[in-house]
Amino acid sequence: MAKQNCIFCQIIAGELKATILWEDDSAIAIRDLYPQAPTHLLIIPKEHYTDITECKDGLLIGNMLKQAASLASQEDLSNGFRLIINTGPQAGQTVAHLHIHLLGGRNMQWPPG
Ligand code: AMP
Ligand code: ZN
Repeated sequence: MAKQNCIFCQIIAGELKATILWEDDSAIAIRDLYPQAPTHLLIIPKEHYTDITECKDGLLIGNMLKQAASLASQEDLSNGFRLIINTGPQAGQTVAHLHIHLLGGRNMQWPPG
């Protein structure tokens, strides 16, 4: 069920504009509106889960991760990329709908900030 006032639910419902790169029955991939790297995509499940701790569907999570790797290849990120799932306030999660960040196209720091 779409959650009211959730921007990702609104994008999935077609109520808010986004650049959609891929979608299937259970997930969607869009470009991040405020990119933090030359390539910055978000892979988002169509069902509303507040974060990774709320989602018990391992098949869904696995498929989203595999799709992230395919998108990295489509975006020519053969030099490397990073997948990130911010979870909760201390990790800096700002949108309370589970999503995987795919970042690439520049050198990255470790440890992350
Ligand atoms: P997080 O901070 O991990 O919750 O990630 C949320 C991401 O959503 C941030 O990278 C934002 O730039 C991105 N974002 C916020 N609003 C939109 C939008 N309308 N379309 C695409 N990405 C968005
Ligand atoms: Zn949502």
